[in-house]
Amino acid sequence: MAEQPYQYQRRELAEPDWRRLPGWAGVTPAEWESAQWQRAHSVKNPRELRDVAGDGLSEAFLNDLEQDQRERATMSMLVPPQLLNTIAPSSAPSAPGFTDAWYADPVRRYMLPVFSDRQPRWPSHPRAARDSLHEAEMWAVEGLTHRYPTKVLAELVPTCPQYCGHCTRMDLVGNPTPSYGKHRFAAAREDRLQAMLGYLRRTPSVRDVVVSGGDVANLPWPRVEAFVLALLEIDSVRDIRLASKALVGLPQHWLSADVLAGMARLASTARSRGVSLAVHTHVNAAQSVTPLAARAARALLEAGVRDVRNQGVLLRGVNDSATALLDLCFALLDGASITPYYFYLCDMIPGAEHWRLTVREAQALQSAIMGYLPGFATPRMVCDVPYAGKRWVHQLSRYDEELGISYWTKGYLTAIEAGDPLALDREYPYYDPVHLLPESGQSWWRAQSECAAQPLPATATASLPLVAAAQLLSHSWCARAHQESLDAGNFLNDQGNVRIVGAGDDGPWPEQPSGEAAGGPGCAAPAYRGDGPWPQPSCGAARFLRCPTAGGTGGAKPPVTGGRRGVVPPRAALCRGVAPRREMGVAPSQAIRAVEPRATSSGAR
Ligand code: SF4
Repeated sequence: MAEQPYQYQRRELAEPDWRRLPGWAGVTPAEWESAQWQRAHSVKNPRELRDVAGDGLSEAFLNDLEQDQRERATMSMLVPPQLLNTIAPSSAPSAPGFTDAWYADPVRRYMLPVFSDRQPRWPSHPRAARDSLHEAEMWAVEGLTHRYPTKVLAELVPTCPQYCGHCTRMDLVGNPTPSYGKHRFAAAREDRLQAMLGYLRRTPSVRDVVVSGGDVANLPWPRVEAFVLALLEIDSVRDIRLASKALVGLPQHWLSADVLAGMARLASTARSRGVSLAVHTHVNAAQSVTPLAARAARALLEAGVRDVRNQGVLLRGVNDSATALLDLCFALLDGASITPYYFYLCDMIPGAEHWRLTVREAQALQSAIMGYLPGFATPRMVCDVPYAGKRWVHQLSRYDEELGISYWTKGYLTAIEAGDPLALDREYPYYDPVHLLPESGQSWWRAQSECAAQPLPATATASLPLVAAAQLLSHSWCARAHQESLDAGNFLNDQGNVRIVGAGDDGPWPEQPSGEAAGGPGCAAPAYRGDGPWPQPSCGAARFLRCPTAGGTGGAKPPVTGGRRGVVPPRAALCRGVAPRREMGVAPSQAIRAVEPRATSSGAR
């Protein structure tokens, strides 16, 4: 047999000995297997971590951790003993190199991020957002995201038994950190859950419900069971997926007798009604798949759930090699009967740049793992593109690798795009980490950031209708408009130029202030008088062109609907009659004047 790039080897799972850690030296197997004991002894701060690990962890490490919690963390610390025990599993605190093993450990890297892990120059991408997938904007009722035509995500509970540093729902999930507050549901839990069920009863186009959070393991089991039973009463619901990282973080919960008995009842009812009931978990590193986690997964299968699947996250330093991914997939499949399903690119939340991979890297990983696993268990590398949804990483329509911007299309409307005639023609951007770009790309983003740091002039919005003012606040004609304008539903032609939308209502296009007032030093734009191209700010990062076919007047006023932050729906069609981007695209038309053409490398395959 030829030598393979990846050498498959069946590995036995191992539960690391928790008694190697001084704080747990006297913990009995019965205590360890108790969900209650695990929850009560979860580590919530560096002091508690020191109590568990003893002097083996250096002061420098603990200070590093503490500094991260204070200055960067989007998630507070919460690590159950089960998960903590999988960090540096073969190192004893008394052995030399224990702290180094912790620094290098994949589970530590995403569960207990330290300040020195973060990207120093670009800890956050300029386009990072707290709710980077805009899930709350698509809430049909509070906590129920209706993003795809036939699927919804029900956020039952905003907490988890463990908090992952890269959590995509950092806006909602967990406790506030010194740097980030958390959104809190306005309605009481029972009211929210009833509102979700009401929406699903009157929306038969939804056939698939992801019951999530947070983590459903943090909702008392009787409430989970009652909610799922109510879903099973809705004839149009055909797929139900319970989402829980606790399957590996706190498998003791899923092994509890009452939970397993309840799952058996639900699975039996689901089967009798022809509904698929599955559990989705979130495992990022092979060492988390221990015998206890495997026992929990198999117990769920024996209880009758159709499948247990894994949706991991691609994270640098955790699973960014084909070997790490294949080790994980085989541990899941061989050891625990869990089907590898997806690996997502880490979402663009604040502070995530040191974790995030480029789309190109994800494509390479997808290619590298093909052929080793059975087809049904070969996970797909997925990019969750804001407003576009999950896309396999090879599905991009084009890729500017100099600026690290990939462009994606989609074939369905989200709930907030019902009146948007351009939603299906638009390209939706996703951004690679800036620090991985070539120097020219990094300096482009630096110019963007410097320009965006300039205060917006009050005169910019004083005379505009409310909606237009809101648009301009988020899409000033300073450099920041370039990609934000694209995010907002405007068009970027292939020379990298932005068309910025009109004023809204029926009035003339807004007159821009001139000179320094437009954007501060280095970002001045001359006055715009209603004809010809939009003036060009001197920062050079963006160029503005008037709406080519709207005749100098603004487009349709965008509908203002409630989002929880009261934002103007950013994808509203603002400019009636404008040709979709593809028609505006390759060669600059007479209407779209090209300025400062930029080369783009097409990565489309
Ligand atoms: S388990 Fe999921 S929801 Fe909870 S913190 Fe981790 S990523 Fe976020």
